[in-house]
Amino acid sequence: MKQRYLENVCTLQLDEDKCIGCGMCGQVCPHDVFELSGKRARIRDLNACMECGACARNCPFGAITVTAGVGCATGIIMGALTGTEPNCCGGGTCC
Ligand code: SF4
Ligand code: SF4
Repeated sequence: MKQRYLENVCTLQLDEDKCIGCGMCGQVCPHDVFELSGKRARIRDLNACMECGACARNCPFGAITVTAGVGCATGIIMGALTGTEPNCCGGGTCC
């Protein structure tokens, strides 16, 4: 089972009017946050997002915004840099 981020604090936003349904966001997302519905992406599970930013960086139409680096990814990176366990998700069991 995938770990989940804190409920209802995720900064991820999708502008469906800009989306052309290429599916790239779903391909790069490690937590299956997106699904295609018709010819548009939609957010299937907001609270599964760990704010890594991959979807926003890879969307060719700028339809996604997210404040990357404030969630689990930062905890993992800081843990690696400092030689400690990740301090997100209660530590040690992250993502
Ligand atoms: S990557 Fe962007 S344009 Fe492509 S499906 Fe996702 S939101 Fe839509
Ligand atoms: S920020 Fe990362 S985890 Fe969140 S939806 Fe985008 S790719 Fe998925």
